[in-house]
Amino acid sequence: MATLFIGGTWRTGSSSEQREVVNPFDQSVVAKVDEATVEDVAAAVGAARAAFDAGEWSGTPAAERGALLRRVADLLVRDREDIARLETLDTGKTVRESRQDVDDVASVFRYYADLADEDPGRLVDAGRPDVVSRVVYEPVGVCALITPWNYPLLQVSWKVAPALAAGTTIVVKPSEVTPLTTVRLTELLEEAGVPAGVVNLVLGGGEVGAAMVEHPDVDMVSFTGGLGTGRSVLRAAAETVKKVTVELGGKNPNIVFADVDLETAVDNALTAVFLHSGQVCSAGTRLIVQDEIHDEFVAAVAGRAERIRLGNGFDPAAESGPLVSEQHRARVEEYVATGVREGARLVTGGRRPGEPELAGGFFYLPTVFADCRRDMRIVQEESFGPVLTVERFTTEEEAIALGNDTHYGLAGAVWTADTPRAERVARALRHGTVWINDFGPYLPQAEWGGYGRSGNGRELGPSGLAEYREAKHIWHNTAPAPARWFTG
Ligand code: NDP
Repeated sequence: MATLFIGGTWRTGSSSEQREVVNPFDQSVVAKVDEATVEDVAAAVGAARAAFDAGEWSGTPAAERGALLRRVADLLVRDREDIARLETLDTGKTVRESRQDVDDVASVFRYYADLADEDPGRLVDAGRPDVVSRVVYEPVGVCALITPWNYPLLQVSWKVAPALAAGTTIVVKPSEVTPLTTVRLTELLEEAGVPAGVVNLVLGGGEVGAAMVEHPDVDMVSFTGGLGTGRSVLRAAAETVKKVTVELGGKNPNIVFADVDLETAVDNALTAVFLHSGQVCSAGTRLIVQDEIHDEFVAAVAGRAERIRLGNGFDPAAESGPLVSEQHRARVEEYVATGVREGARLVTGGRRPGEPELAGGFFYLPTVFADCRRDMRIVQEESFGPVLTVERFTTEEEAIALGNDTHYGLAGAVWTADTPRAERVARALRHGTVWINDFGPYLPQAEWGGYGRSGNGRELGPSGLAEYREAKHIWHNTAPAPARWFTG
């Protein structure tokens, strides 16, 4: 079956080239998908432009757009098992986690379905009885949505649902490594009745994404990915002064005070960093522990890290899967080598697992570095793998200073039994999300995004919808009369 969706039709790429999609557990080829060319991107943008300019979708009552999103949520629930299976084949993550992703994504579609017809604008007091002044929200236009490989379905849904609720038309590009659930979501959007040209899908690598960002008929880019690519996107978008939101990486502090329940904090520190083998933008990769419990905490985390069961995402006994690709594992290995060179103490991991049954996959052992210092590269740069760095602190001020000592600012957590202190630290941390005595949950209703180099703009929540809207002021003079500024 053809896997590019342009102007309401499934097609192959104009070059007829295909790309193999590989299961990171055993490197088997699970699918072949069509590769888009720059010409296909132009066709997709053209279709989205024509659909937007025709005004059918933006003119559809917002409640009807919401109803369509609700149908998509129902279809996701209907096909939950199949979609979760595809996500696990594509990413290697456990199918348990993939199922959770599908459930989360269905609630994101429901949330924006409800929000679509709320808040159409507001009246403004012009101070004159003959003037009606109002602000209305309009869809921003044609949007290019570009997503990474770690949470393919989730990331694309965080963009597609608000973009469609707002009435924009879209061209979507998932990561070349993990396109399958985005193809599936596009099928569901078609089944739900999205008009031709409103949703378009192109597949391929960075050059396809770059062509989308450069295209003059694209009004807005919403990008999630790495910092380096984010910079390129911002630079390229500047040429045509597009609206851009970027969700980039994170180097997320997990701060633990000595008054915590140790077992709970250790257990959560483990999930924070090793879930999905650390391939999570908000992973708690930077553990910051108070002196009194430091040694005991590190020993407990390392001991439990050694017992994490790696395996095939479809094996119910597996607690974590492989890394997404050979190339990515090489990047993690280089990062660990840097840590060793910098003098951090390797407590556990730091290599591939030895079990023969894991040899065919891109596995890497959960790794813990202690005695880390804030000036080390491994403390400042993302590994995007199962690697934890541990630093220590004495006072609350030190904990806050360490937690904010990053160019990123995506997420962080503070663990303490002292409620006023928890609130103080949460307020002081310069991150887009802060968890108190928890790590990882998000809600469709609550904004997600970064301070600093973690990005611009927000996804989820009302702000996630506002990104896809323009605010227009309409001044209506109901009793026009000569202004008589010029008297001649
Ligand atoms: P990349 O930045 O490499 O890629 C992201 C997307 O951009 C992919 O679809 C990629 O295509 C595409 N792309 C590559 N080059 C360009 C270009 N010049 N112009 C436009 N698009 C381009 O990120 P990864 O896929 O490697 O994902 C990992 C990164 O994503 C991590 O750094 C992580 O922190 C970040 N991330 C951030 C999140 C957040 O919410 N802040 C959430 C999840 C991940 P292709 O891959 O096909 O080459």
